[in-house]
Amino acid sequence: MGFKVLITPRSFEYIKDKFWELLKDAEIEVVMNPYNRVIKEDEMVELIRDMDGIIVGIDPITKKVIDNARKLKVISKYGVGVDNIDLEAAKERNIVVTNTPNANSNAVAELTVGLIISVLRNIPLSDRRVREKKWDRFIGYELYGKTLGVIGTGSIGKRVIKLLRGFDLNILCYDKFPDYEWAEKENVKYVDFNELLKRSDIITIHIPLTEETRHLISERELSLMKKTAIIINTSRGGIINEEDLYKFLKEGKIYGAGLDVLEDEPPKNSPLIELNNLVITSHIGAHTQESIENMAFIAVDNLISVLKGKEPKFRVC
Ligand code: NAD
Repeated sequence: MGFKVLITPRSFEYIKDKFWELLKDAEIEVVMNPYNRVIKEDEMVELIRDMDGIIVGIDPITKKVIDNARKLKVISKYGVGVDNIDLEAAKERNIVVTNTPNANSNAVAELTVGLIISVLRNIPLSDRRVREKKWDRFIGYELYGKTLGVIGTGSIGKRVIKLLRGFDLNILCYDKFPDYEWAEKENVKYVDFNELLKRSDIITIHIPLTEETRHLISERELSLMKKTAIIINTSRGGIINEEDLYKFLKEGKIYGAGLDVLEDEPPKNSPLIELNNLVITSHIGAHTQESIENMAFIAVDNLISVLKGKEPKFRVC
């Protein structure tokens, strides 16, 4: 019996040849995302109607989508964060949800390091000025000897710490579920949330977006930060309250910020993009050749396992 599967991530296009045989051998007929952008809910309802499975990026898999997908057996997330998938609705319908943990951790961690240095040394701003034929010489900050505050010590947070070791930083961490064994081995310290905000020079966020973490960083939290501190978010838009962040950056109450993710992607009328002390990238954290191949391999493997009645390697629910 053959299966029909929708694949939505556009980055999959670049590497799909590598997986074609694998999918064909599993008798899978593939439908690629016809929109060349993130699919909207109503479009998804139509596209998914007669699919047995989906490999999905950040497109909305809401209750309405799931209720209309009568044949769907598996939602294979191409990535880690499953905040775009209604897990309860999937569970109700016995649809298996899988993801690709660790596959993109290094890519996101390396981008985080890039954003930290870009913000501290004003690299994108300096580049813009030179192209405008201006030779402004910005005075930034060094990493050496500073305090790094990592919110979320899962796979990406831990990798960021490893990568930044050579800069001789003091490291503070906060996590709802601290990994004390790792902390002891790595000689890092868990502190409470407020202490991390107050003491850190560089704060970087690596937690999932949930009801609990939405707007975790708002006015109160920003006002605890040092005036010279920066904040980086490569996890999900919505964790930082963007209106409050705008105010703090505009008024120079913190030094700068780096965001790979926004509440509304791409931003329509966000005043954030006018700010020179903010570096924004277009949700490219996981977009490296190595990472997309890793994610695709695991996502395809998870998908085929479920369709063939086997237990997938990485099941979310
Ligand atoms: P992970 O599951 O390995 O780690 C997440 C950590 O957050 C865990 O240690 C967990 O205990 C902690 N946590 C959960 N809820 C919390 C809370 N309320 N308060 C404090 N800590 C909490 O995930 P990961 O692989 O490290 O990824 C982290 C996030 O990065 C993902 O959820 C995803 O949204 C985001 N991400 C972004 C990109 C990108 O392209 N920019 C790519 C991959 C992942």
